[in-house]
Amino acid sequence: MRVSILLQITADDGTASRAEEVAAFEKATERAEDVGLSLADGKGLLAAVQRRIVQAQVGEWAGRHRCCASCGARRRSNGSYPVLFQTLYGDVQLASPRLHRCACQGKEGPATVAPLRDLLPGHVAPERLYLEARWASLVPYAAAADLLADVLPVASGANATTLRQHVLRVAERVEGELGKEQSSFIDGCPAEWAELPIPEGRIVVGLDGGYVRDWDDRKANFELIVGRSMPDDRDPRYIGLVHDYDQKPKRRLFELLKGQGLQANQGRALTELVTPEAEHVLDWFHIAMRLTVLEQYARGVAHHDAHEGARLLRTLERIKWLLWHGNGHRARQQADDLRDDAKGLELDYPHLGKFARSAQEFAVYITSNAGSLINYGERFRSGERISSAMAESTVNAVVSKRFAKRQQMQWTRRGAHLLLQTRTRALDGTLRRLFERWYPGLANDNPSSAGQAVAA
Ligand SMILES: [Zn+2]
Repeated sequence: MRVSILLQITADDGTASRAEEVAAFEKATERAEDVGLSLADGKGLLAAVQRRIVQAQVGEWAGRHRCCASCGARRRSNGSYPVLFQTLYGDVQLASPRLHRCACQGKEGPATVAPLRDLLPGHVAPERLYLEARWASLVPYAAAADLLADVLPVASGANATTLRQHVLRVAERVEGELGKEQSSFIDGCPAEWAELPIPEGRIVVGLDGGYVRDWDDRKANFELIVGRSMPDDRDPRYIGLVHDYDQKPKRRLFELLKGQGLQANQGRALTELVTPEAEHVLDWFHIAMRLTVLEQYARGVAHHDAHEGARLLRTLERIKWLLWHGNGHRARQQADDLRDDAKGLELDYPHLGKFARSAQEFAVYITSNAGSLINYGERFRSGERISSAMAESTVNAVVSKRFAKRQQMQWTRRGAHLLLQTRTRALDGTLRRLFERWYPGLANDNPSSAGQAVAA
């Protein structure tokens, strides 16, 4: 039989286009694979329908924006330029009209305007960006590109390089929304902090580090820090950053905790979460990050000298315990010992220099912050708690399965840091929510948010 698919588009003013054949199939019915549309049939049909719908919508938009928004005068045409709009159902070639600036707009500014730029600023459909970001966060870029090309008519645009550019663009937008780093996130004077109520519920943050191979130097590695916050009464969230590259680690964690607090008690003010306890979480996060890096080096030493490595790890454990219990004086002595030990090591461990430098920096950090070190353990026993207990499973979930899947995978610091931002969100299920905030229209098509609305 011959199957013909017709398409008719009716404009808002009621004028209907002629019904046009967009696809036709000759269907035999002899074997199982003959029955219904094949993948190739489906891709061809979707691409053909998409092309016509996009062109009709873009044509309508261009018509609506032909006249000057201020005075209503019709703007003169200055030709058009080609635009490739990348959608989930194929790349659509468009002619973006260029119009002369209206005389009423004065002489300042560009001589021509392109209305389509307001409608399609990035030339990529948000839903395509979303799926690209989601899949590339879960599997390597090339595998994600193959996967999309397997099921969608996107063969032309779905190469790993384009996909990576799109995903990093998404991550950069996320990064752009993060406020600036501050040494303190609490307003008011310390005396008032004690008056603030202790937040309800407890948030445990597990923190650990992992290594990935450096793009520029195949023999070198750099550190990723990942964490998982686990509130008592809310869904867990992930956090990830490249150590020594990220300029805003405290702000990053602060926003994570803030987001979780606000979700739980929507009516309650942010001030309740921003208590000294929350501030100490951030301070401890800073200390724990440094200790995590030092522990990674100590484990590296253990590969060359098991006895020495074990001794260093014990010292680090001791330092952590002392800091947790507010014993800054003894922690400082131990940090000095660690620095001397690291300096005195004679091994062919390739990161020995870096280890010695990090140990030196840590000793300086503890010394210069000795006055402000507090008894974290005691503070957290009553209110919010924090744990930097080695969350190996977090490293495994966030880093190993994507960043170190194969030995030869190499990363730039920027590329790894940005991908961590989409990956952590893809893993904890907040990526879709982010896109729905950026593109509110997407929420209409999301069955899960529709379900939530009904439930509420
Ligand atoms: Zn005008």
